[in-house]
Amino acid sequence: IDIAAPYTLKITDLHYRYPKTEKMILRGINLDINPGEKVAILGRSGAGKSTLASLIRGDRTPTSGSVTLNEVPTDKFGDEISNYIGIVHQSPYLFNTTILNNIRLGSEDASEEQVWEVLDRVGLASMIKRLPKGLHTMVDEAGLRFSGGERHRLSLARILLKDAPIILLDEPTVGLDPLTEEKVIETFMEQLHGKTLIWITHHLQGIEMMDQVVFIENGQISMQGSPAKL
Ligand code: ATP
Ligand code: MG
Repeated sequence: IDIAAPYTLKITDLHYRYPKTEKMILRGINLDINPGEKVAILGRSGAGKSTLASLIRGDRTPTSGSVTLNEVPTDKFGDEISNYIGIVHQSPYLFNTTILNNIRLGSEDASEEQVWEVLDRVGLASMIKRLPKGLHTMVDEAGLRFSGGERHRLSLARILLKDAPIILLDEPTVGLDPLTEEKVIETFMEQLHGKTLIWITHHLQGIEMMDQVVFIENGQISMQGSPAKL
């Protein structure tokens, strides 16, 4: 499937129930996300934020209603969706291979120089430079443990390299102290300039930098608007 910029996401009367369960987790979500727009999605634990993220990315099919990217349902793209929507999951998964391969996943033609460049942008270059095998260190090699925040940044480096126009971040700052969190948010905002950003979080830090804020409560949008208005 080939679609061209600018990219518009449209969520229309979206309902979702996990297969073989009773409860409708999302109930009538309507949301338009314009090209380049920065949107924060807030809500308590269990509200349905990560479920919504997986539907936006087309990893799940709506029970009813739709999620479209330039009028094509996102679940029709298959693996090609990663050309358009890059996601950093709530618990990023690293593959049991080198750091280099983990970052180059989906952009296999990228040079090591380009990999260093994105690592620098997410603030991980100096840490990885200090490793004896550098980029060629296996991620689970003895002694190398990535913290939650570092996993998020590695995963962000992967999607920056891939250069998708829409970036979906699911709680990218969870577990960080407030100062580091502020820095990470600033880095994200700088790095994602011009791209569409959907940023899922359970607290208010940094939302003044967003164009649109959406509160999800029990599977429904309870409040929506610009941060200044709310
Ligand atoms: P958190 O802030 O804790 O990450 P969330 O807003 O992302 O929460 P979701 O993960 O979307 O919440 O979960 C919403 C609801 O869907 C919860 O009640 C959860 O138990 C249910 N749920 C999530 N994943 C599944 C699944 N694979 N199968 C069945 N129910 C699920
Ligand atoms: Mg979640």
